[in-house]
Amino acid sequence: MKEEILKKIEFAGVVGAGGAGFPTHVKLRCSPLTVIANCAECEPIIKSDKYLMEDYAKEIIEGMEAVMQCTGAKKGVLAVKHKNKKAAEELKKAVSGKKSLSIHLLNNYYPAGDEQQIIYEVTGRVIPVGELPIKAGCVVLNAQTLYHVSQAVKGIPVTRRNVTIAGEVKEPMTTEVPIGMPVSSLLGLAGGVTMAEYAVIIGGPLMGRVAENPWQEFVTKTTNGIIVLPVDHPLIEKKTDDFNHQLKIAKSACCQCNYCTLVCPRSNLGLGVQPHKIMQALTLNNPLILADGQAALGCCNCGLCTYLGCNMNLSPHRFIAEVRTQLLAKKVKSSQEPGNVNPFRNESKAPSKRVLQRTGLTSYDTDIRHIGTVQTPRVVRIFLKQHIGVPCTPVVKEGDFVKKGQCVGAVPKKALGALVHASIQGKVVSVSTEYVDIMKV
Ligand code: SF4
Ligand code: SF4
Repeated sequence: MKEEILKKIEFAGVVGAGGAGFPTHVKLRCSPLTVIANCAECEPIIKSDKYLMEDYAKEIIEGMEAVMQCTGAKKGVLAVKHKNKKAAEELKKAVSGKKSLSIHLLNNYYPAGDEQQIIYEVTGRVIPVGELPIKAGCVVLNAQTLYHVSQAVKGIPVTRRNVTIAGEVKEPMTTEVPIGMPVSSLLGLAGGVTMAEYAVIIGGPLMGRVAENPWQEFVTKTTNGIIVLPVDHPLIEKKTDDFNHQLKIAKSACCQCNYCTLVCPRSNLGLGVQPHKIMQALTLNNPLILADGQAALGCCNCGLCTYLGCNMNLSPHRFIAEVRTQLLAKKVKSSQEPGNVNPFRNESKAPSKRVLQRTGLTSYDTDIRHIGTVQTPRVVRIFLKQHIGVPCTPVVKEGDFVKKGQCVGAVPKKALGALVHASIQGKVVSVSTEYVDIMKV
């Protein structure tokens, strides 16, 4: 039974839809005691999972049960914020009478959806840096991923997902769209952009990336949000300011006040993350401070050190990300077990409302319209790499007619990856090493 479910998940091309897109059929080759559904959706403004849970609670539970069946886990916990009342209610209804499943209510803080935070909230355990959740007997899957698993076991591949389009658009909305839908079409469906000079963030406002060219962006299996902000919005300036320019300012302005470390959620879990130490090492050109890498390796790139901690307007999270990348490239591993969790961790949590205020996003956190589905676009672009691992190899050629759900990209033999499928029926109009374009006919 395990192999049968894993095969179905593999054929459907399911990946971690709330993160970097790790292939789910590989992730589930483990034997956890507990499956945790990450229904926290902690990025400000984004409401993709909230509406998914309201609409498809039954399917999310079916996904949980399939994962539990295939991994042998005896317990399933759905961690959802109590502020998402309707979603929590729907999930509660869907687990009613199922003894192995329960709901865990979370406070509205950022980053409640960080894997380490959610595991600690549910199990009281902290995973050593560099280890996987299975170390604590857990596997964690996001709500959208579980929905995709529920479809996979019915033989339906991943061709759609929920996306929030918000910020400086006339009619912000959350809707279910085909994978490969052009971001430009979605901006049009949201009533269009309200200003001439704007930037587009792909993903959540804090952890997402600024699109270099929004007209060349298309929805992938991991796109949960499209946020439009004025080009001179502080968040955009922070994300796009030249790295060396920032470093120069940091060298003269960092006063080693330590506030960045005090607000760091990974530091408060005893994981040894210390952004102020990274700043010291960079500004003093003293890499010895980073000898064991512990100060950087446990970072989850949430950005709180920058957006909430630093009063000198510096960007420690960008420096720590750079240092972490370099350490990982050198294969430096953390050798330390987690230290003590800060006894005042609860008091140190960053309320989402405060994060919205500090990032200048409060006015965009509106009642976002919820639309079931949108009109199918004329053309979709299916990227061959929407996951961790190697890109898929195209298995169609220009001129081919494809049906919705047909595989258009396969994973090379013995490589890590996830299949990609046509999200609309139509004609293949372009094939490259990066994508397959399909036009509706
Ligand atoms: S981005 Fe900053 S606050 Fe977030 S985990 Fe990394 S160091 Fe800590
Ligand atoms: S909060 Fe800012 S000024 Fe203080 S140590 Fe961190 S980076 Fe430096």
